[in-house]
Formats: sequence, C-alpha cells, structure tokens
Amino acid sequence: MGLIDCASGNSLWRGYDYHKENKVSKLIPVGDGIYEADVSGSGKETYHVVVDIPHPRRSKCNCPHADGKRIICKHIVAAYFTVHPEEADRLYREAMEYEAEEEKRQAEIADMLPSLIHKMKKGDLESALLQVLYDGPEWQYDKFLREYFDIY
Ligand SMILES: [Zn+2]
Repeated sequence: MGLIDCASGNSLWRGYDYHKENKVSKLIPVGDGIYEADVSGSGKETYHVVVDIPHPRRSKCNCPHADGKRIICKHIVAAYFTVHPEEADRLYREAMEYEAEEEKRQAEIADMLPSLIHKMKKGDLESALLQVLYDGPEWQYDKFLREYFDIY
C-alpha cells in the first residue's frame, strides 16, 4: 500500500493543506525514498518527520497524534506531498472530478424523480407520504396539515 492509502481522509486533506501552505521545511533525502523534514504545526510548534515512501508504516513524526505509533499523520502526508507535489495535484484533481461526477449523478436523480413518483401505486404513495411526514421536521408536518386540510 502506498503512503496515501495508509493515511485517513482527514490526515490526507490536512496534510494537503499543510503542503500547500508551505509548512514543510528542511526537506532532505536520507536514504532510498526516505526523507527527513520539519513541519510546522497549527500553533508555534514544529515537528520532525521521517517519511519512508517504500515502507509508509515506518514513517515517523513526533507530534502527539503519531509519536510512537504507526500512524500516517498530516505532517507525514505534508512532507510526502512536498517530495511528490504531482501526487498532491493528482489527489486534488481526482477529488474534484469525483465531486463533479457526484453532482451530475444527483442532478440526474432529481430530474428522474417526478416520473418515478408518477409511476408509483397509490397505496405506496400514501404510505410513503405518511412516512415522510412522520419522519420529517415538525414544520413540514404542520405545513402539510395547513395547506391541504386547513388544520392548524
Ligand atoms: Zn505528526
């Protein structure tokens, strides 16, 4: 598994931000695919990071979150992206593409919904409507009674 796959989604995007905010300094290669760097944290502190790209789980950071654990924290991710900025750009591009796809899919579903509802049986429609009214917010329930039955 690559380093990116070992990191949580949260560490990945926080690490991405840190890389883009130039929080990584003193990046030096210390071995084959192994780098050391300083990464400034959210406050005044600076953490020391070892990024081991061939063996991501051997990467180290002395922040409270990752110290002594085999966790890929945002500081390690930030240092990794500074070594491989093209990976950071690829991650961003893929996330944007995914978001655009998802938006398109949601719009298609919304377009289809009226005709799907139109094809529903009356009994199914009735129970679905009751379900929505019972599960939905109180204002929606009240509004329905008001608009269709003049009940206040
Ligand atoms: Zn860390």
